[in-house]
Amino acid sequence: MNREFPWAFLFLDYPHTVMICAEKLRLFDEFREAASALSRALTGLNSKTGEELQKAFAVSKAARAKCATALNALQEHKGQHGC
Ligand SMILES: [Zn+2]
Repeated sequence: MNREFPWAFLFLDYPHTVMICAEKLRLFDEFREAASALSRALTGLNSKTGEELQKAFAVSKAARAKCATALNALQEHKGQHGC
């Protein structure tokens, strides 16, 4: 929603009412992919043991960090851009 003109949706030809922030969509896609990768990394983690568990744990740890970074980037962009 347009913060300066919250009533702008009343004017159907007002161009900004349908504007979608491309950067926000891109960052959201990155976050969604990172979240999917984290989910995949965590699947079956509890059935592993030994060295296999250590490897899977390292992969999931990296996936979690990437997910957090992507979420931060998305929230930071939304804060700065107001979108
Ligand atoms: Zn934006």
